[in-house]
Amino acid sequence: MPWAEANVHVLTHTMHYGFGCFEGIRAYHRHDGQSVIFRLGAHITRLFESAKILGIKIEHTYDELMQACVDTLEVNGLEEGYIRPLVYLDAGTMGLFAQNKVRVAIIAWKWGAYLGEDGLKNGIRCMVSSFARNHVNAAMAKGKIIGQYTNSILAKREALQHGYQEAIMMDTSGFISEATGENIFIVRSGIVRTPPMSSAILGGITRQTVMHLCAELGLEVSKARITRDQLYVADECFLTGTAAEVTPVREVDNRVLGEGTRGPVTEQVQNLFFGIVRGEISGYDRWLTFYNPRKRL
Ligand code: PMP
Repeated sequence: MPWAEANVHVLTHTMHYGFGCFEGIRAYHRHDGQSVIFRLGAHITRLFESAKILGIKIEHTYDELMQACVDTLEVNGLEEGYIRPLVYLDAGTMGLFAQNKVRVAIIAWKWGAYLGEDGLKNGIRCMVSSFARNHVNAAMAKGKIIGQYTNSILAKREALQHGYQEAIMMDTSGFISEATGENIFIVRSGIVRTPPMSSAILGGITRQTVMHLCAELGLEVSKARITRDQLYVADECFLTGTAAEVTPVREVDNRVLGEGTRGPVTEQVQNLFFGIVRGEISGYDRWLTFYNPRKRL
């Protein structure tokens, strides 16, 4: 559908109540000229899981949605970019009880470094948010659910207003959970630590990728709760996400972490991650979906 015609009705149910789910997926233009989508299968699986959590039935198959993502990049001639599958309830009945038709939109556009090129290289400044992450009984953190992002946006806007680039959120028990659209890792005495899946976090695909890469680098990864003061005295901290990729954190609440720049473990993880997506490191084809942005030209 042409960009300018991709409109929805003002009574689109999900626009009123946030009941729907989505994904964020990245495609990379590699050094060898090929284009790849990173971990497409894992993202489509999570999209179906998010819908399952909501009790929404997507009227397409896994294979159809995989292909639709590839097609969207190809018809737009995008050598790289960001893909946004969005599952929503259409207009029809209003009210919370509505069972309107389930629609899936797939949108793609160019998107550079989410937290800035400088952030990727030198690290960003974060604050611990005054907004708690939604409690696991109140929100369904394992779903990438549209309405839940109000919680993230409140924290993100607060952080930006205070002059920081990102907010790190604590759960309702006061343990560090994740950032507004990224999972969090800290490094202390060479050990990498991230909150466990049973906490109020999204099961990040980059988080899982990074844990795998840490194991390959011979780094010990501990899935354990993190307190605010453990974060303050960490040697290193980094955030992971499809948009943010692997972004170092150099400061939290005006406390400088380590040397106040990207730490050595973070750099090692970044080098491996970017080496894989940019095609400089081979052996990870199982994570890559190749497509041809010049196919329809
Ligand atoms: N947590 C939240 C709240 C997110 O929105 C995201 C982005 N999808 C992540 C973590 C990171 O997940 P992923 O690595 O799968 O993009």
